[in-house]
Amino acid sequence: MSTRSTLDNSVQFLPGVGPARAADFARLNVHTIRDLLFTFPRDVSDRSNFSTIADAKIGEDIALIVRPVDAREKKARGGRLTLTVVRFADDTGEMEAIWFNSPWIMDKFQGGNVMLFGKAKFDFGILKMEHPQHELIDADLPDNVLHIGRIVPLYPCTGKLTQQVWRKVMMSAIEKFLPELPEIYPADFLQNRGFPFRQKAVRDMHFPPDAGAREQAFARLVFDECLLMQLAISLSRRRYVEELPGRSFRITPEIDSRIRSLFPFRLTAAQNKCVKEISDDMREERPMHRLLQGDVGSGKTVVALYAMLAAVANKAQVCIMAPTGLLARQHFETIEKFLGNSSHSKVKTGLLVGGMKKDERDGIINRLASGALDILIATHSAIQKDVKFYDLGVVVIDEQHKFGVRQRATLAEKGTRPDVLVMTATPIPRSLALTVYGDLDVSTIDELPPGRKPVKTSLPDKTREADMWKFIRRELTKGRQAFVISPLVEESETLDLKSATEAYEQLMAGELSGFRLALLHGRMKREEQQEIMDAFRAGAVDVLVSTVVIEVGVDIPNANVMVVLHAERFGLAQLHQLRGRIGRGDEQGHFILLSDAKGDEARRRLSTLVHTADGFKVAEEDLSIRGPGEFLGTKQHGLPDLKLVDIVRDLATIREARKIADKIVKIDPVLQQPSHLTLREELVLLLGKEGAEIGIG
Ligand code: ADP
Ligand code: MG
Repeated sequence: MSTRSTLDNSVQFLPGVGPARAADFARLNVHTIRDLLFTFPRDVSDRSNFSTIADAKIGEDIALIVRPVDAREKKARGGRLTLTVVRFADDTGEMEAIWFNSPWIMDKFQGGNVMLFGKAKFDFGILKMEHPQHELIDADLPDNVLHIGRIVPLYPCTGKLTQQVWRKVMMSAIEKFLPELPEIYPADFLQNRGFPFRQKAVRDMHFPPDAGAREQAFARLVFDECLLMQLAISLSRRRYVEELPGRSFRITPEIDSRIRSLFPFRLTAAQNKCVKEISDDMREERPMHRLLQGDVGSGKTVVALYAMLAAVANKAQVCIMAPTGLLARQHFETIEKFLGNSSHSKVKTGLLVGGMKKDERDGIINRLASGALDILIATHSAIQKDVKFYDLGVVVIDEQHKFGVRQRATLAEKGTRPDVLVMTATPIPRSLALTVYGDLDVSTIDELPPGRKPVKTSLPDKTREADMWKFIRRELTKGRQAFVISPLVEESETLDLKSATEAYEQLMAGELSGFRLALLHGRMKREEQQEIMDAFRAGAVDVLVSTVVIEVGVDIPNANVMVVLHAERFGLAQLHQLRGRIGRGDEQGHFILLSDAKGDEARRRLSTLVHTADGFKVAEEDLSIRGPGEFLGTKQHGLPDLKLVDIVRDLATIREARKIADKIVKIDPVLQQPSHLTLREELVLLLGKEGAEIGIG
């Protein structure tokens, strides 16, 4: 459908780009000419005021073209500060540029012309600039107009890709190839919104004639990204829930009470609300496509089990897929335990994980295909080709962000439009739900089961560390277990972080000597990890020193203490996840954050966790501090990459784009109308294979 355009040619087609520079571009993820055109400057520098030394305006940003005369180094502040002072001249006079603690700068100026940009001041009768932007340029080259006398783009440099090379290559791409970039909107739409044409917008992002043009270009391209993202979401939602009917389950009061009798507790109000939302979906013919979110320990699994058993009561099979064998096993045990609460339950469960013996696996697969199994609890193994269901009615995906769109779809395709329930314990800030989960209905468990003791979180300062280890020794002596979490596996010289290995050795020899320690990290083989976890679970290990591999799904009630080393290296949401791993038993849980971060900022950020136990609040805080990256593995969600959109800043635009996208998809569900063809092509391009998921491409 989509025609290949020269825009998809390699950047090597551009003058001045050979294999070496192409490799540099590739490192920045720029492969094609299109990639290049859509790699926007990280910033611009307004060098419209191009001046000479004699005419330099004081206090304003100016650009000068000068040549170096000499350079010297000075020490200041008792030798702690090195000043590099370079004298420059042009035909009208001399000036000085000063750099602090950058001795290497001397070597950069070897006689050729230099462009300096910054604010100038007069000091002791001579014009001075501190830390000016600088570029070596050849005053005679015609392409100097790219670097001075205008608003100049600043790109991410790497290898031999200097700013000059970037600009030259970009300008030639713009001149030769930009005219091939199609417009994606009809003319009247552009006019109504006052948007510049697409080609002009891209050009003005790189080389704007003035600041206003860049703003307009930015607004239009942000809108483009929002609309394409929302179109992808809208198409996908339509495909899942609106195109063809699924099945309708009967959930009678009798079934309801039979399921509830399996739980040795009453569901919380929040769980009941979610059960109702899910049951309503299941009764409907259209397939459920719902997200169940809630903090770790809020009781999601129980709610999911309700849905699964309701389907089984309707003689359908169900599958729950978890991201690791550990989690799958845990679910298996939990489900078996609940089923064991009824003496006459005939529900048959099976576990399918990697590394099973062949005959064991064959047994499960055969029973699944014949309909002898009701519930399959599995890892990714469930999506293997030879795994076939007799009649798959409900699919539950745990920790859904660990799976790609394709994997989720593959599992669902093993049934005839089954109901799909995805779960996550990474609460999504409400402002993000629209973007990340725009194609899902959302149920939220916002309350913990009663009687849960909140985990105590502390952020001791350095001087209290010894006391903290003493406290941990006391807990261990009482028979408790502890986690020590470390962010990296191997010593990293640059970051100087304690690796898990090093922490393990130090603790064994020092603070925790005499206790049984074990080390667990991501580079170990699966089986080895499993063995260590089993030993910890069985109580044969007192302290598990680990990298974040334990993040997902560990349930060890006797482990009530967790210490996080270099806590500042973690995102808040991630720390909150880790915290959810403790305090699962009767003992008070203790979550201790160690950090030698100097800045108040880091401590302030971490102290959020001390003050709130609410995953949503933590997520909002994380979002405001670190931006949406944490939450948006956009690729994983099968959404187009967002380069310009800031999900928080652009929320209003996203909402608006959503309305427009829904309208378009409603009247033209596969984007066939002539006025939508370019949009469709653009989506196909952006989504690649994922495009097929949503019925285009
Ligand atoms: P999640 O999957 O959200 O992490 P689980 O469903 O595993 O949470 O529940 C965590 C723990 O709380 C489990 O031991 C579970 O049996 C228990 N639990 C769940 N719901 C309730 C409830 N309503 N009352 C008491 N305990 C509950
Ligand atoms: Mg249904």
